Amino acid sequence: QANERESMYLVSEYASKFFQNTMWKTDVGQAIGLSYFKERGFTSETIKKFDLGYSPDEWDAFTNKALGDGYKLDYLEKTGLTIVKEEKRFDRFKGRVMFPIHSMSGRVLGFGGRILTNTKKAAKYLNSPESDIYHKSKVLYGIYYAKQAIAKEDNCYLVEGYTDVIQFHQSGIDNTVSSSGTALTSEQIRLINRLTRNITVLFDGDAAGTRASMRGIDLILEQGMNVKVCPFPEGEDPDSFARANSEEELKEFLEENSSDFISYKASLLMKEAKSDPIKKAELIRDMVNSIAKIPDNIQQEVYIQECSRIMDISENVLYATLAQIQKKEG
Ligand code: ATP
Ligand code: MN
Ligand code: MN
Ligand code: MN
Repeated sequence: QANERESMYLVSEYASKFFQNTMWKTDVGQAIGLSYFKERGFTSETIKKFDLGYSPDEWDAFTNKALGDGYKLDYLEKTGLTIVKEEKRFDRFKGRVMFPIHSMSGRVLGFGGRILTNTKKAAKYLNSPESDIYHKSKVLYGIYYAKQAIAKEDNCYLVEGYTDVIQFHQSGIDNTVSSSGTALTSEQIRLINRLTRNITVLFDGDAAGTRASMRGIDLILEQGMNVKVCPFPEGEDPDSFARANSEEELKEFLEENSSDFISYKASLLMKEAKSDPIKKAELIRDMVNSIAKIPDNIQQEVYIQECSRIMDISENVLYATLAQIQKKEG
């Protein structure tokens, strides 16, 4: 069992080297893969640090090379690098730029692969499937490169995607990780919780970004952590914003726009409800639901006071709602 996992790590690490070599050492790799990353504003240093690569645009170039070098088809299939269909073998990541996903200790668990042209035909990002070494819900992209900075800064920036992480690290903000494509899970939050009690959630300036983040945040509150949020301007994500601004401007933006989650949510809900009393009652319940997740009573009390002020509703009503929710949840 342990041997089998070790074999899966080894073939994944071999694949990562192969994708890097293909990108740096072949004409096609340089012309297509490397120039893609360069056009996104990544420096050679950054590209090397994150072990980014390119998977050839051929049906089975990687699989054949790996088999020739003595790697077993069984492990190629179990890691999802090779897809076997009716005796035929295909490279899963054909023609994509590659982002290896590392564990806390730096082992390669799997990959994200991005398509080069934006077409509606294929998914923009393709990920390795779940396997004995890759459990999506337990992994944070960038954690290997971010862990020291998270502990040192005593804060973790949580972003949506691979390129957000990479661009932030290039801008000197090393305490950044991403759940990359899966909804945030309690296990991912526990990884961060070992390093700091403070999380700042940065979300893309689109409706999907806001909604996805809001759901994950209750899970962070449940672990008694402090949550701040920082929404990005409409149409921007952390990657595009970091690219368009200097390091100083980015840091200033983060300082000025990060606000406590509970206050942020309360103001957001108030804007939504305007003067509709039925809507408002519903949103107050939503708000108190978030507060109910917080394990610490004193912290709860502080938030009740704050919400009372922002939402213009008496503390008594909020406490009564809280009691109702807690009773229901036993
Ligand atoms: P890019 O800047 O390269 O377009 P992004 O990170 O800004 O990528 P988003 O659309 O904001 O992409 O999505 C955030 C994350 O969600 C991605 O980094 C990726 O992990 C995941 N994701 C996005 N689209 C898909 C998809 N079609 N299939 C699987 N995962 C996806
Ligand atoms: Mn998005
Ligand atoms: Mn994005
Ligand atoms: Mn983006």
